[in-house]
Amino acid sequence: MPRVLVVGAGIAGDTVALMLGRAGWEVTVAEIAPALRGGGQAVDLRGDCRAVLARLGLLDEVLTRLLDQRGAAWVDGDGRRLAAMPVEAFDGNGYVSKEELLRSDLARILHDAAGARVTHLFGETVEALEDAPHGVSVRFRDAPPAEFDLVIGADGAHSRVRRLRFGPEEAFRRRLGLAHAWFTMDETPGTPPVDGWFITHNAPGSRSVEARPGHPGQQEIGFTFATTSLPPRHDREARFALLDRVFADVGWRTRELLAAARHSPDFALDTFDQIHLPKWSDGRVVLLGDSAWCASPLSGLGTALALRGAAALADAVEAADALRLPHRLSDALTAYESAMRPRVRDAQRLFPGRVRQAAPRTGFGIHTVAWLIRQIQKPPLAKTFTRLAAGHGHGQPA
Ligand SMILES: Cc1cc2nc3c(=O)[nH]c(=O)nc-3n(C[C@H](O)[C@H](O)[C@H](O)COP(=O)(O)OP(=O)(O)OC[C@H]3O[C@@H](n4cnc5c(N)ncnc54)[C@H](O)[C@@H]3O)c2cc1C
Repeated sequence: MPRVLVVGAGIAGDTVALMLGRAGWEVTVAEIAPALRGGGQAVDLRGDCRAVLARLGLLDEVLTRLLDQRGAAWVDGDGRRLAAMPVEAFDGNGYVSKEELLRSDLARILHDAAGARVTHLFGETVEALEDAPHGVSVRFRDAPPAEFDLVIGADGAHSRVRRLRFGPEEAFRRRLGLAHAWFTMDETPGTPPVDGWFITHNAPGSRSVEARPGHPGQQEIGFTFATTSLPPRHDREARFALLDRVFADVGWRTRELLAAARHSPDFALDTFDQIHLPKWSDGRVVLLGDSAWCASPLSGLGTALALRGAAALADAVEAADALRLPHRLSDALTAYESAMRPRVRDAQRLFPGRVRQAAPRTGFGIHTVAWLIRQIQKPPLAKTFTRLAAGHGHGQPA
């Protein structure tokens, strides 16, 4: 039976593992974290996500996990509202939608669906990938070496598979100039409620603080700021010190949220980057999801692309009958790339001003963004924006 190794049990990795497992491949997933990773904020079901999840038979289950969301609001340093966009805006295609769930819930549903068909190796990663006469020979960190017919690198924006096979990250990374910290905060009796609103406070100097709905009794918190480099991942103290420094004079709930960051088990901090590669496969090694094409969270399409890409890769492999005819694998990988390139190109083309809008530089910029948010929801602009927003997410049958 043909064997596939998927590196990374994220949205893309577990989806392709599930699909290839169902199609009869022997699937192993190597995930570097000791268990399925939790954390992450809301992901949007619009467009491709809904279509792929329906095809997998998981949509009903996903719909039971939706967050109670009422919209997005922008506030000043005293918590006064500058602008708001309810979930009903633009026929339900506004900034925040009613159909969102936490990334961790979606990851869990996909992971559980793969079930016993797929072998997961947690706390594991690849150390070397070498071409063998009939496959790829893989050296793992701990597990014994093994040979696979296909290796899928679904290990995120900082992919090790990409580095081992295609070259260093710097060669493919386009920096957007912002970084983002995110974590889950437990509410206490004194915590101001968000009441279903995704609330953002922008402060001059390209700094933004966000609180949004999470599971009952929790809020999902974000800090966005301008930088192109961060202290090393393992140096948590230096990372918290950086946040403390950057946000020291910011109002609203910033002090409370900075303190909460240190106690959160799922605190994460990363730069907003894009990944651009001229080709996503090399022989029997192929990249999928953020490792191949990260469009950055600013695109709002990371999950949609991951799900759609996993389906496109599994479909291409099945259509070429690569299960019985492994020599047709390269045709399958070309077909996968052709199917995904246009979507990825669209997603990576952020709308003009998107980076600046996420974290305006000046007080004037902050008020301009708020003014624009109010104006585009009124006639005559509302009609145009409703039409533009309807195309977001590439929703087509999967
Ligand atoms: C914990 C977490 C939280 C996130 N939160 C948000 C969010 O709030 N907003 C947003 O827009 N996007 C978020 N993302 C990114 C978002 O999930 C992706 O943009 C999108 O879903 C594409 O998914 P992916 O599977 O390609 O990559 P990812 O979701 O990043 O998954 C990659 C997986 O590979 C694993 N991995 C990494 N390196 C290795 C390695 N060397 N060996 C083995 N496994 C490895 C990771 O632990 C992870 O499980 C988050 C990602 C993670 C992992």
